[in-house]
Amino acid sequence: MMMTDLTDRRKLRMGMVGGGQGAFIGEVHRIAAAMDGWIELVCGAFSSSADRSKASGRSLLLPDDRVYGSYQEMIESESRLPEGERMDFISIVTPNNMHFGPAMMALEHGFHVVLEKPMAFNLEEARQLQQKVTETGCSLLLTHTYVGYPMVKEARHLVREGKLGAIRKIYVEYPQGWLSKLSEVTGNKQAAWRTDPQQSGQSGCMGDIGTHALHLAEYISGLRATRLCASLQTFVAGRKLDDDGSVLLQFDNGTSGVLMASQVAAGEENALKIRIYGENGGIEWNQQEPNTLLVKWLEQPTQVYRASAAYLSEEARAFCRTPAGHPEGYLEAFANLYRGLALSLQPWRNEGKAGPYDFPGVEDGVRGMAFLDCLLKSNESNDKWTDFTV
Ligand code: NAD
Repeated sequence: MMMTDLTDRRKLRMGMVGGGQGAFIGEVHRIAAAMDGWIELVCGAFSSSADRSKASGRSLLLPDDRVYGSYQEMIESESRLPEGERMDFISIVTPNNMHFGPAMMALEHGFHVVLEKPMAFNLEEARQLQQKVTETGCSLLLTHTYVGYPMVKEARHLVREGKLGAIRKIYVEYPQGWLSKLSEVTGNKQAAWRTDPQQSGQSGCMGDIGTHALHLAEYISGLRATRLCASLQTFVAGRKLDDDGSVLLQFDNGTSGVLMASQVAAGEENALKIRIYGENGGIEWNQQEPNTLLVKWLEQPTQVYRASAAYLSEEARAFCRTPAGHPEGYLEAFANLYRGLALSLQPWRNEGKAGPYDFPGVEDGVRGMAFLDCLLKSNESNDKWTDFTV
């Protein structure tokens, strides 16, 4: 992997909101942030319960005085610490209704932010965060994990280089099966908040994974969806939000697309897959086999590109960590996002201004929230085709 010297020889200091014992994504963030050795966790408010936050902090071997009972206490206390001690950025890994409060307060206190998707509870909150990022010049990394994979970078490279010719068709599908039953009432914490409109927002499945699918399609193709036609369903009786949806998309160059997301595709794990076709050929990438990229050619045999191979672009190889044949996966892709943050904050440490970056940011977050608004509008309308503007 390409190494870059971090000249001031200290680790970036990370604080965390959420990610207490029993949580899902907080632990993934901690592992990913630590992977390059450039970031250390120094503090946290890990739960809405002060006791659980303390217990979680203790299990992470943090000193008691850096484990806080609430995010407000954490941000205020950390701001008062000397510059050489206080956190540099805050990772927010709470349910969707708890993104805006800590993110806004962190930005207002001059802390950079790593924020989970979907970026906020609604579009209005997302726009306010965008404005605050502009005002403060702080960085915001939005963890659309899948664009951290090297073979996704390679797919984007092939499109950018024009190898596939003008893009015509995008299929992106994201089937999961874990919400096939009403597990929100039988003690599954992750299911409980995701299916509750008060915590998840106006969409369930589409907010949770549909936003990932759209982001991936736009990231690889470099195109932007401009119109869509959506049909959302709630299959499981008693559930309050969509658990399945299908969307037809039109992109700004006339490309047509199909996006499907489901959390009731019984038997599926996390089967995100994308196919993009141009005039000369296409790419196919499957998140569950992330080290392989299929490259298909008109009237030629299909090629199998593999992670870390010498024939990959510089762009893709810069994000590979192990020699070919030593599988990399989700944690490494996540770490690639944190690596981007650490590199972009290097100039900030020296000159007070973040450098260029290749990770999803606040614009992607606003786009994701606008996508959800548009989906719901289309779903409810008889005209179906709806302009997607941000
Ligand atoms: P989870 O329920 O497993 O964890 C949420 C954590 O937040 C819990 O520890 C809870 O105690 C804590 N929390 C809640 N309110 C809090 C508050 N006021 N202060 C401090 N902590 C608080 O949820 P999860 O599955 O880890 O999802 C969390 C977020 O991550 C969601 O926004 C979700 O959409 C996102 N997510 C993203 C990915 C990805 O691929 N990038 C994957 C999974 C989840």
